[in-house]
Amino acid sequence: MKPTAFLNDWLLRTPSPWKIGQILIQPGFTLCHQVDQKSSESLRPISLEKITDLIKTAANGNFRPLRSSPDLPSGWILSPLSLEELILALRLFYPSAIAHWSAWSQQALRITPYQEAAERQTGMYHCTRLLTLEQRTALTQSVCAQECMKKRLWEPADRFTSSPQEIPLLCAEPCNYFIPKAREVVKSMIPSKKS
Ligand code: SF4
Repeated sequence: MKPTAFLNDWLLRTPSPWKIGQILIQPGFTLCHQVDQKSSESLRPISLEKITDLIKTAANGNFRPLRSSPDLPSGWILSPLSLEELILALRLFYPSAIAHWSAWSQQALRITPYQEAAERQTGMYHCTRLLTLEQRTALTQSVCAQECMKKRLWEPADRFTSSPQEIPLLCAEPCNYFIPKAREVVKSMIPSKKS
């Protein structure tokens, strides 16, 4: 089943409200931040076009490099949305989340191990293949576990359960945020040359 059909089927058979990341989805469809669930009258209406601006900046005003970081700004509401618009909005908030969840639920998601992802890096990231298992594990604790809401499916994988009304954010391979961090670790182990 394709992601759109899979989501539609899930929405029809799962009691609302639904959750994904920090977002609450209500019938209609209406989207808002989960912390705003009880204050919908005071929320700022936004359009689909405004999502791109909203997701760039964290709740504290800093640049938000990772779409799945747990710092999505609150105070907005997006409604009403058709199913197609809902899917577009979720693609903007959490890229690939519906496709990954749909494939994973149907045992069809390809998971890329760290070493495979590192082996295909070139240029300045070529060195990331030297990251040891111990360093990788430490990095998943300091980066993935602290800065990201996704559940890692590659090793060391997260053990997790999600509520029946929640679409889990899944990580199928080391991302473009993690790889540069891996490079920093590897580089820090290489003694600098003295001139
Ligand atoms: S590698 Fe996956 S879990 Fe780790 S920060 Fe990137 S997206 Fe999140």
